Amino acid sequence: MSSVLLIHHISCGFFRTPFAALSYGQGGILARGPYVIHCLLIELDAEAGGGLALVDTGLSERDIENPLLRLGIGMTLGGGATRGMSALRHVQRLGFQAGDVKHILMTHLDKDHAGGLEDFPGAQVHVHPAELRAAMQRRRLIDRQRYSGLHFSHKPNWQVLDTQSARKWQEEFRAFTVPGLSEKILMVDLPGHSAGHCGVAIETIRGWLLHCGDAVYHGSWLQSAKRRPPLLIQGVEMLLQSDARARALTRAKLQRLTARGGAKVFASHDPVAFKELGGMV
Ligand SMILES: [Zn+2]
Repeated sequence: MSSVLLIHHISCGFFRTPFAALSYGQGGILARGPYVIHCLLIELDAEAGGGLALVDTGLSERDIENPLLRLGIGMTLGGGATRGMSALRHVQRLGFQAGDVKHILMTHLDKDHAGGLEDFPGAQVHVHPAELRAAMQRRRLIDRQRYSGLHFSHKPNWQVLDTQSARKWQEEFRAFTVPGLSEKILMVDLPGHSAGHCGVAIETIRGWLLHCGDAVYHGSWLQSAKRRPPLLIQGVEMLLQSDARARALTRAKLQRLTARGGAKVFASHDPVAFKELGGMV
């Protein structure tokens, strides 16, 4: 069983939303929002063979080269990445190779999270079964927008979570163990944003860290139950939600978890938490 040795916070792309004052809550009306795509690169201890685990993959080098085809017009206009931002380049800069990535834990399979999967064809890709089903079938219009078949055409080595064996985590969450990893790394059921959306919890020497994916887009949701992000970003959160009631319940649980200090919770696209945690662009 591999355990955690070191966590690197990396951004594998960005969203430059228009009208920052309205879409982010700070900056001029003509400025753009500074959202990141916060992934984790985890060095696992050598005792069990070492290697690396990724939490989400952001965008690949191919997405960066050909955004219109691979990401669609929305992300091409409002987001993307610059050369060198992919998870693969981060892995290489830290002195590793693609083959060192043994596990990829996917919060969900939206384009901005799953683009880099093809750069790590040998990795076991852990995902919630409902998320995998939705991404493979792409039945609804919204699914055809949010998932890209091109990101899965290399046939990833999917490892579907055993949701029947969920255990309780931090009082009110359901958590799943990840085959091949110790119980210091868990996937946490955070439904609402997409069909099988999860967070990833990691026990560190300073306590639990919870990457909550896109359970919220804007970090202000987590600062206090009374804080609200700008209406424009709340609208985007609603537009992309899979289940409104589940999303609201998940958000309330995350707010309670944050308030009682059970974990340091952060969202994929929040630039403030990324900076706080020492993120590398
Ligand atoms: Zn996202």
